[in-house]
Amino acid sequence: MIIKDKIKIGTKTFHIEFVENLINDGDELYGECSWGKGRIRINSSYPEEHQELALLHELQHLIFDALGYRSGLQNVF
Ligand SMILES: [Zn+2]
Repeated sequence: MIIKDKIKIGTKTFHIEFVENLINDGDELYGECSWGKGRIRINSSYPEEHQELALLHELQHLIFDALGYRSGLQNVF
């Protein structure tokens, strides 16, 4: 899969960044996303298949955000 550097969800564009050893609060992540920052970050230290799955996972978060399910989302996935 060729992953582009940006993707549009509704009217908002998200930039996709690849980061080696993506860490947040001491935990290594496959990926993370921020609606407010318009950003998806993917850990490029993992194999390409993992990066693709991480991107799909983060897109799910953002699509749910777009539909208004922002609160409590972390408990769903
Ligand atoms: Zn998640």
